Amino acid sequence: MKSRFGRVLFAICAVAVFAIAAASPGECAPPKKWDRSADVVVVGAGGAGLAAAVTAAEKKASVIVLEKMPTIGGNTIISGGGLNAADPERQGRQGIKDSPEHHFNQTIAAGDFRADPEKVKIMTAQGLDAVKWLESYGLEFKDNVFQIYGSLYPRSHNPVLPKGTGYIKTLKAAADKHGVKTFTEMKVEEIIREKQLDGRVLGVRATDKAGKTVYVQAKKAVVLAAGGFGANKELRALHDPRMRELTTTNAPHATGEVLLQAMDIGGYPVGMDHIQCNPGAPPGRKLRVILHIDVARYIMVDKQGKRFVAEDERRDVIREAILNLPGQSGFSVVDEDGYQNHDVIWRDTAVKGLETGDAFKADTLEELAKKMGVPADAFVETVKKYNAFVDAQNDADFGKKKRNLTHKIVKPPFWSCLAGMSVHHTMGGLNINTKTQVLDRGGKVIPALYAAGEITGGIHGANRVGGNAILDIMVFGRIAGANAAAEK
Ligand SMILES: Cc1cc2nc3c(=O)[nH]c(=O)nc-3n(C[C@H](O)[C@H](O)[C@H](O)COP(=O)(O)OP(=O)(O)OC[C@H]3O[C@@H](n4cnc5c(N)ncnc54)[C@H](O)[C@@H]3O)c2cc1C
Repeated sequence: MKSRFGRVLFAICAVAVFAIAAASPGECAPPKKWDRSADVVVVGAGGAGLAAAVTAAEKKASVIVLEKMPTIGGNTIISGGGLNAADPERQGRQGIKDSPEHHFNQTIAAGDFRADPEKVKIMTAQGLDAVKWLESYGLEFKDNVFQIYGSLYPRSHNPVLPKGTGYIKTLKAAADKHGVKTFTEMKVEEIIREKQLDGRVLGVRATDKAGKTVYVQAKKAVVLAAGGFGANKELRALHDPRMRELTTTNAPHATGEVLLQAMDIGGYPVGMDHIQCNPGAPPGRKLRVILHIDVARYIMVDKQGKRFVAEDERRDVIREAILNLPGQSGFSVVDEDGYQNHDVIWRDTAVKGLETGDAFKADTLEELAKKMGVPADAFVETVKKYNAFVDAQNDADFGKKKRNLTHKIVKPPFWSCLAGMSVHHTMGGLNINTKTQVLDRGGKVIPALYAAGEITGGIHGANRVGGNAILDIMVFGRIAGANAAAEK
C-alpha cells in the first residue's frame, strides 16, 4: 500500500506528466472556435511588439497584442534608453562626424563578423528614420547624443523621460490611438500552425489570468516579440555554462519560452551562445547600482584601486576583465557631475545603495577609498592619472589616443558602486530574413510568422554594441508590423 507521501508524490507526478504532455509540440491543433481574432497578433508588449503593433495598425490592420505580465514594457521600459543612430543634426551641432556606413562598419566588426551584414545594413540605415518616427508620436529626445557604455562611438540618443519609459509611454499611446487591443496577463503557450512543421501559422494558444485557455486567431500573421532569455538560467547555461550563477539585469519575464515554441513549429535559432554581460550586482548581491552609463564620465577600478580595463572597450572585453578579478567584482567611479548625469531612477538606486553597501559616497577621494576598502594612495593616484589623460587626450594606461576623453573626475562628492557581471542581453534567437519572416532550418519562410527584437538572432553577432538593441527593436519591429499587415 502506498504511504500518504507516496500518494501525494504520485499525484504530483501525474500532474507534471499531464502538464508536459499538454505543452508538447503539435498537440494543439487549430481549435473548433477562436476566442478572439485580428489581422495581426503580436506576442509581447515590449518595444519591438509595440513598434510592430503601431506600424501594422498604421497600415489599417486590426491588431491584438498579448502580454504575459501584469504590466507592459518588458526589458525596454527598464533599459537605459540609449538608441544609436547617425544623426547629422544632433551630431553636427556637437562636431561629431558619423554616417550609417561608419555605424555599420563598427557594428559588424564589434560582433566579430558573426552578424548578418544585410540586416545590419538595414538596421544602421534606418536608425534616424526610427528616431523621427518616434518623435512624430511625441517622444522627446535630449538635444545631445552621447556614448553609451559599450557603444564605441558618440551616437546614442536618449529620451528626456527616464530609462526606457518614454518609448513605452509613447508607443502605448500611439497603439491606443490606432485601436490596437492590448491584453495583459495573457501568456502565449503555443503557436498554432496548419501542421506542426508545415503550412501557415494561424494564431496562438494563450492562458489568461484565471488560467483559462484562450485561442487567438491571426487572419494575416503572428509577430513574435517576446524578448530574450537572459532570465532563464537553464537555457543560458545550456549555451554558456559560465552564465548559470550570474545575476541578471533583465526583468523576470525574459525566459525565452516563445522562442522554444517557435522552434517546436520549425523555427531555427542562431547564435545562442552569444550572451552579453554588463556591470551589475556581483554574485550574491541583490541591488544593481550602476554608474557607468556614459563612457566619458566614469572609470573602473579593482580592489587595489587601479584601472584594469579601458572603459570604452567592447562589452565582451570588459566582461572578461571583470570575470577575471578576484570575487568577479570591481568598482565604477564618478564625480558629482557624472552622478547627476544619470537619470533620476539610477540616481535614486545609488542612494539606496549607500544603505545596502552596494554604493559609496564621500567628499574626498581618500575618504571614498576608505569606504570602498581599497588602498587610498593607489586610488587617488589612479584618479589623478586619469584626469591627466583627459588633459593630454591620451589614455596612456591602455594606449588609446582616439578615445572620447571629455570629463575629469574632480567635483565632490565622489561616488562609486560595486561592479560585477550580470547577464544582460541574449544575442541569439530566431533566424529571420530581412523582411523579419521566421525561417526554418532549411532557410524556408514559415508562412505568416514574423519576429522582431531580442527574440531574434544574427543581428548583433558575438558582441552587441551598446545602444544597438533599442535601434534593432524599433527598426525591425516596424518592418515586422508593416509586412505582417501586408499579408493576404
Ligand atoms: C537594464 C537594461 C538596460 C538596457 N539598456 C539598453 C540601452 O540603453 N540601449 C539599448 O540599445 N539596449 C539596452 N538594453 C537592451 C534592450 O533593452 C532590449 O534588448 C530590448 O528592450 C528588448 O526589446 P524586446 O521588445 O525585444 O523585448 P522586451 O522589451 O523584453 O519585451 C518582450 C515582452 O514580451 C513579453 N513576453 C515574453 N514571453 C511571453 C509570452 N509567453 N506570452 C506573452 N508575452 C510574453 C514580456 O513579458 C515582455 O513584455 C538594456 C537591457 C536591460 C535589461
